[in-house]
Amino acid sequence: MISAEKKLDFERQGYRVVGNHSLVKVCEWTKKAIKGVDTCYKCQFYGINSWRCVQMSPTHQCDHRCVFCWRDTKYAHPTWQGPVDDPVDIIDGCIREQVKYLQGFGGNPFVDKQRLEEMKKPIHFAISLTGEPTMYPRLPELIAELRRKKISSYLVTNGTIPTMVKQLVNNQPTQLYVSLYGPTNEIYQKSAMPIAHDSWERLQETLQLLPQFSRTVIRMTLTKGYTMVHPELYAEMFKTVRATFYELKGYMWVGHSRERLEISNMPSHQEIQQFAQEIIRHNPELKILDEKEASRVVLLARGDFDSRIMSFTV
Ligand code: SF4
Repeated sequence: MISAEKKLDFERQGYRVVGNHSLVKVCEWTKKAIKGVDTCYKCQFYGINSWRCVQMSPTHQCDHRCVFCWRDTKYAHPTWQGPVDDPVDIIDGCIREQVKYLQGFGGNPFVDKQRLEEMKKPIHFAISLTGEPTMYPRLPELIAELRRKKISSYLVTNGTIPTMVKQLVNNQPTQLYVSLYGPTNEIYQKSAMPIAHDSWERLQETLQLLPQFSRTVIRMTLTKGYTMVHPELYAEMFKTVRATFYELKGYMWVGHSRERLEISNMPSHQEIQQFAQEIIRHNPELKILDEKEASRVVLLARGDFDSRIMSFTV
């Protein structure tokens, strides 16, 4: 449940609160796309229409306190608290808030008129805005409702609730992201500072479920001095943790993370490329599939990867 005080705090940061516990915030890349300036790396990699994408989460609570997180980790909590809203109300509420916000672009002479029209009918939900979405007890229904509305879903989880991930096997998101914050428990503890003592073990359980999903991504937030260490150990791990894609994304010195880290913890795109090459040197089964310097991200996949699945269908 989001209190009135928190609601004000979130709204000051540009979020919109939907119902008792969900949040939506128009992505900077959505705004850029509507202005015809650029699109996000997921548009380049997977064909996402950034201007028709809703960035949301059914909760602001998380059981991690990642050192590199741009959010305020003071809201961290290990379990769900309060009422549980209906998935249909959450989806409709997020779309309503998104369209209301973007209609404000109508007065801008430089917007792409066609995209401004198309944004009124979102075709993509990025369930990645904040918090840990797998805490939301009706997540499988939300994913199913999105599919019923012909809206694709990218779900980003930190993997600490394998019981919910198991439920998603029969109600799969279009693409399941599992965040990996270190190739060992020691590095994971230092980087993610999980609340529960057995989070690493639960994450391993989730990673073993990946082959049951049609499209999966291991997402790494490379932070110098924390997660951006031991490429050989990641390479070894990826011999058994078999995902469709591996996204090596550079940490960004933004938001509340500036209270915990220095700008020097942020890697350059060249350093990320070198780190990717080191992983490939230790695991030649992998190859670089794509990259976007502006987002400082490199995409890896297996050599036998079938490029036809780059773009998706709902
Ligand atoms: S996929 Fe992510 S980065 Fe791209 S527009 Fe949607 S929320 Fe933004």
